[in-house]
Amino acid sequence: KDLFKKSEVEAALTAAYDNYKGLQEGKNADYIPALAKVDPKVFGIVLVTADGKVYTKGDVTTEVSIQSISKVFTMAKVIDESGTDAILNNQGVDATGQAFNSIVAIEQNRGAEMNAMVNPGAIAATSMVKGANYDEIWSKILGYYNDFAGRHLTVLDEVYQSEAASNQRNQAIGRLMYAYGKIKADPDRATDIYTRQCSVGVNAKDLAMMAATLANGGKNPVTGKQALKTENVPEVLAVMATAGLYDDSGKWLYKTGLPAKSGVGGGIIAVSPGKFGIAVISPPLDGAGNSVRAQKAIADISNALGGNPLAAQ
Ligand code: GLN
Repeated sequence: KDLFKKSEVEAALTAAYDNYKGLQEGKNADYIPALAKVDPKVFGIVLVTADGKVYTKGDVTTEVSIQSISKVFTMAKVIDESGTDAILNNQGVDATGQAFNSIVAIEQNRGAEMNAMVNPGAIAATSMVKGANYDEIWSKILGYYNDFAGRHLTVLDEVYQSEAASNQRNQAIGRLMYAYGKIKADPDRATDIYTRQCSVGVNAKDLAMMAATLANGGKNPVTGKQALKTENVPEVLAVMATAGLYDDSGKWLYKTGLPAKSGVGGGIIAVSPGKFGIAVISPPLDGAGNSVRAQKAIADISNALGGNPLAAQ
């Protein structure tokens, strides 16, 4: 028996798409020059159920850069390789109360007591992926993302070049984390691999598949590949719930109950464990850095389908 009725899911996606396609709030990120050039009208919604049914609405083929959504999967890789304590004891799992690229957040606790969804914790997570050299680490990270997406993803080179030329702040963050002993490898290499991982191109379907893999105990519900160990899924979702939407994570959890992660490329993924993964791409962002349409569409669709894991079933 199917987890959801086809007509109900289709109606929820259509309603959200129609309600928000005309919404003109927010603005593309522009601190990475290439992101300002992305068509703000791109709007795609994909929901993949934990039993592998794929529902789409709008633009599901245009690729945007994954940006901060990558942080979830690199952190998951570190947890898979090194255990749940590795992240807990190094960068921590708490909210910082600061912006994702905050230097103050590092200074508050000398590089500790943050999480892998903000840049210092994320660059540190990238530095913790095991490998003999740059290429080996990079191909492990990309291969891991591919297992979640169920296809071969590639880097959007223009985005990578644009961010690599303008990421002095992240370079400073990497070096500061090194100075505090939270990065033990070459910090410039870690920041560069992090920049590359943020530039991976994804469409709404890729992102929804990645979210659905988390919703399905770490196993891609379409390819059947076990991407992440099932036992490590709760820790990954917990960090997403705590800090996935930056400083609006509390507000988001209050409204939806869903572990989620946004990126400045305009994507958001959200996970209803055992039920579905959903992703929306729409580049214009609000003041907190989260896609305006994506937040509204995901909240409406999840609430229509009973997706809130904190609600009694
Ligand atoms: N690559 C971006 C950065 O480091 C990712 C930020 C984001 O999506 N919030 O600034």
